[in-house]
Amino acid sequence: MPAINKIGLIIDEDFSSKNIPPYPHPTFLSYETPLRIQSILDLLEINRIFVNERITKIKPAFIDEVVLNLAHTTYHIESIKNFSNRGYGILGDEVFITEDTYELAKKAVGGAIQAIKSILDSDVNQSFALIRPPGHHALQEKPSGLCIFNNIANAIMYLRKKINYNEKIAIIDIDAHFGDGLVQYFYNDPSVLYFSVHEFDFVEGDLGFIDELGEGEGLGTSVNFPMPLGISDVEFLEFMDVLEPILNEFNPDLIIIAAGFDMYFSDPIGNAFLTSDSYYRFTQKILKISENICESKLGFILEGGYSLIGLPQCVYAVIQALLGEEYEAPNFEKFHLSSETKIDEVRKIKISLKKLLANYWSCFK
Ligand SMILES: [Zn+2]
Repeated sequence: MPAINKIGLIIDEDFSSKNIPPYPHPTFLSYETPLRIQSILDLLEINRIFVNERITKIKPAFIDEVVLNLAHTTYHIESIKNFSNRGYGILGDEVFITEDTYELAKKAVGGAIQAIKSILDSDVNQSFALIRPPGHHALQEKPSGLCIFNNIANAIMYLRKKINYNEKIAIIDIDAHFGDGLVQYFYNDPSVLYFSVHEFDFVEGDLGFIDELGEGEGLGTSVNFPMPLGISDVEFLEFMDVLEPILNEFNPDLIIIAAGFDMYFSDPIGNAFLTSDSYYRFTQKILKISENICESKLGFILEGGYSLIGLPQCVYAVIQALLGEEYEAPNFEKFHLSSETKIDEVRKIKISLKKLLANYWSCFK
């Protein structure tokens, strides 16, 4: 990494004004709102991030439908477009559609593509796409869980199919939820590592368990670190003991972070008790690792995070870490909400996961 790294923020005013959920609280759908991006921009402004000469504001790439087709079926794209033209609707249980949805979701894909392209073109060293709607649940053939198009999968397909970039890529998904859409694109692809840390319901069972390891040539390149519900800052970064050796061995040319912040303690959807300090320390660690393996080429793509107090704080913490600046979590985060530690449970999961991974990764043999 050069002594002074440059950071690109992918920003467009449409993300903070369009696709307003037509349902009031407490509907789950109502949390995916333009206020998420507005609150981020406001906090960055207050903290004078935009006047920092190492920060560059970048517009999303304009893309046409052909690019969406790299990751999605024509039927999926057309159904979003038709619904948007009609002006409203709900697709499945968890996706609302407004007249803006198609264009904004397309712009979000353009934002993810621009975040990665800016790094590969060496315009910036790291980037953060402040986009919505999120993407990691979206499937090839349908939207899911507030996600319309799969922003990260689409960006990787663009790299592969449009600009002939065939280097290894690591995706690290830190959203509270398992990226059940994202993982499917690369489940048998040995050139893309998908590593997810997420909340997991060990009682009911869930997708994203430790033995979902990929298939065919991709066996071993899907790695899940399921966390018990209710973890706090003490437990969160335990997953780095698995991630760091894998990243060193996999040796990707690019690292993409599926940056969801819904494990924040006051998130209305997540169940964890993290403060913004966890995201600051995670970013510090991943930046350091990336210096040695991929010249610090790190792209953050916003996924979930629905607390209008917490989301901007977490994004600001990430940017401070990228800038190498100090960061202290605000006093309002200094509660003691989790009374019982889950550290023993988390360490047991870590040991079991390493045992399974020893079949595919020599770092665990
Ligand atoms: Zn989520």
